[in-house]
Amino acid sequence: MARLEARPTIVIRGGTVVDETGERRADVVCAGGVVKEVGDSLAIPSGATVLDADGCFVMPGLVDLHTHLRQPGNEDAECVETGARAAALGGFTAILAMPNTDPCVDNAAVASEVLALGAEAPCRVAVAGAITVGRAGENLAPLGELAALGVRLFTDDGACVSDSGVMRRALEYARGLGVTLAQHCEDQGLASGASMHEGEWSSILGVPGAPAEAEELVVARDIALARLTGGRLHLLHLSSARSVALVAAAKAEGLRVSAEVTPHHLCLTDADLAGYDPLFKVNPPLRTTADLLALREGCRSGVLDAVATDHAPHPREAKDTPLSDAAPGMLGLETALAVTLGSLSSGSVNGNGNGNGNGNGAAPYMGVKDVVGLMSWRPAVIGHMATSQGGDQGGPIAPGAPANLCVFDPAESWVVDPAKMASRSRNTPWSGRTLKGRVRHTICAGEPVVVGAEAQR
Ligand SMILES: [Zn+2]
Repeated sequence: MARLEARPTIVIRGGTVVDETGERRADVVCAGGVVKEVGDSLAIPSGATVLDADGCFVMPGLVDLHTHLRQPGNEDAECVETGARAAALGGFTAILAMPNTDPCVDNAAVASEVLALGAEAPCRVAVAGAITVGRAGENLAPLGELAALGVRLFTDDGACVSDSGVMRRALEYARGLGVTLAQHCEDQGLASGASMHEGEWSSILGVPGAPAEAEELVVARDIALARLTGGRLHLLHLSSARSVALVAAAKAEGLRVSAEVTPHHLCLTDADLAGYDPLFKVNPPLRTTADLLALREGCRSGVLDAVATDHAPHPREAKDTPLSDAAPGMLGLETALAVTLGSLSSGSVNGNGNGNGNGNGAAPYMGVKDVVGLMSWRPAVIGHMATSQGGDQGGPIAPGAPANLCVFDPAESWVVDPAKMASRSRNTPWSGRTLKGRVRHTICAGEPVVVGAEAQR
């Protein structure tokens, strides 16, 4: 707490505050790591640092439920420090590190190591634990031991827990611990060997594909297991229209099921693989325009709870290969907010001028507040990090609240230059493209960690 008390006084001046309670013009004064005052044309305390927010949205810091930090074991791709810096530049004040490191986070020692690495990072680094030992899908990891360290979400992400009996026992155990299981929904028998979505484009290109059913079978099975056990289930990176329908039905039934979608599945399709570019190879694969539109509608209707990046850094050699050999995944943290707002609040596939030219325009349909909710207070709840749960994320922006904030300029256009990104990897599909909207400042626990779109440390 001594460190928090030492936090400088900051005035975020002239912006529009957007949080769960609504939108209003207001200055925000922070000191000692918390919000002190919110109001129109506030006096500037002497010695305060003034951060200009003219024309900007001032929102609760974003929360990413799905970040691959690659440490320990794959530091050539990313490490906690560089990934957290990329997150701060993207407006995130908390990220959940996925456990598919080497060794993986299936025990307290590795979890403690990642938490210690994250302790000094410019955003909060929470850790997800593995469901099974070695993410091998056979024996349960020591969930209780990990939960005692504060781990609240468990996943074998990168791999699916295929055995229904194992997943059932994990859900029963998780229910008793009050933690959430997150599934990477992928039927191996249908998906193995695939480099893209199985459909018209995979036929045209002659590339082996995985059908959407590879995802939907596991979504349906795990919803059934959530019903059987009463366990809390989170479905990672959903990509198909029928997955959204399955989640809608599960929620209508009152099951404890939540779901996320990535920014890239909201704006790219399998047509983007037309150039055989490995940068567009991702798992689950980019699907059809009909799927994309259903995912957007799932966001609008509230069936989908969160937008999560699935930030997946890979070294150059893992992507500088033929499509069939390339590692799946793309960077996401630094571009997520601009891409998501461009997809959901303009409602056009080409909303940002960053789409793929499949020309499927639609009417604007989501307000900024609801989009921010998908990236801040709603994922904060799923990750057990919300202020309402005793955590420090997701707002609302009010006196006494932890000063975790993102200031976003919706009018600034910028060209994505991979060489200038904080991430240690360069595998962004937005390379050379112009995005509209950029994070101007990020305040983490009262510290201005990004000022004027520049990382401060
Ligand atoms: Zn995954």
